[in-house]
Amino acid sequence: MGYPKFLNNYFKVENCELPARFKITGRIPVEFDPDASIEELWDIHDSEMETCRTIINDVYSYGCYSGMPQTDLSLLDLKVAIADKMLENCNFCERRCGVNRKEGILGYCRVGELSRYASEIMHRGEEPELVPSHAIFLAGCVFSCVYCQNWDISTHPTNGTVIDPGNVAEIIDLRRAQGASNVNFVTPTPHTHTILKIINEISVNTPVIWNSNMYHSSEVWKLLEGVVDLYLADFRYGNDGCAEAYSNVKDYLRVVQRNFETAYQHTEIILRQLVLPGHLECCTRPIVEWTATHIPKVRFNLMFQYTPHYKAGEYMEINRYLTLNERERAVQIVREAGLEDVLV
Ligand code: SF4
Repeated sequence: MGYPKFLNNYFKVENCELPARFKITGRIPVEFDPDASIEELWDIHDSEMETCRTIINDVYSYGCYSGMPQTDLSLLDLKVAIADKMLENCNFCERRCGVNRKEGILGYCRVGELSRYASEIMHRGEEPELVPSHAIFLAGCVFSCVYCQNWDISTHPTNGTVIDPGNVAEIIDLRRAQGASNVNFVTPTPHTHTILKIINEISVNTPVIWNSNMYHSSEVWKLLEGVVDLYLADFRYGNDGCAEAYSNVKDYLRVVQRNFETAYQHTEIILRQLVLPGHLECCTRPIVEWTATHIPKVRFNLMFQYTPHYKAGEYMEINRYLTLNERERAVQIVREAGLEDVLV
């Protein structure tokens, strides 16, 4: 309930004492044929990631980085090429629709080949250590939360400004020059291909934040390693039943826990737990206890701002605000678990 303990590398990148991960991945030379099969591209990727891991580990452990020369084709270019091929059989999230998004709007999220953003702003409403955060609110979502506060954006994936990656990279450069602490991709998963292209064109050194429900596929987390500096990550439900009832998503716990554990191995995390009314024992408590056991060195943000937006009126049990008693009990649950770095 004090200063962030586990965001050291994030702050060093923000202060330009360290390069953002993409600055390293974008300089690792790789040879590949863009027309090769996706299996061949993955083989090269997985092999080159060993080099990438070693370099990032050395740079981040010893704090020394003297730069790397430009290269014709980089590991980041390879990630862009793989994401582009994945779009033809989309498995960016664990819904694994398997549709060709280059042929139309065919998957559950209704995001096609083009990505759109609803807005890009200097956001002062994120965690205090992240502001001002250059938030890019992407249109569409792979979840269908009945209480979604951004439902106008998440349920209208074909509204908004079509993203030209080069233009958005220039905006990111500009926002950084204006004082943004980071770039913060909000609801990123169905836009993985676009975001990698954007990042590949950013000139400035800036921390990359993946602001996500953590339902991305195992293939996507492989692409994100060496690119994302901080996961700003929701852990909403403590069981699959609540996830299915309120977000229409299956196999939630297995996927999200896997993705948190993987992210934990490679980078830093702010875990957001939005406390839902009446869900302290089935959701908040198991999430807190699992976190304390499996990924204890995260910044844990216990959030009380639940508001019954969108269709919450159809679900009487969550059609209300939290009570004071529920807030106090949630804090108690976190204290008892012994988490070291908690923001309330
Ligand atoms: S990102 Fe969209 S199309 Fe792709 S698997 Fe997920 S829901 Fe389906």
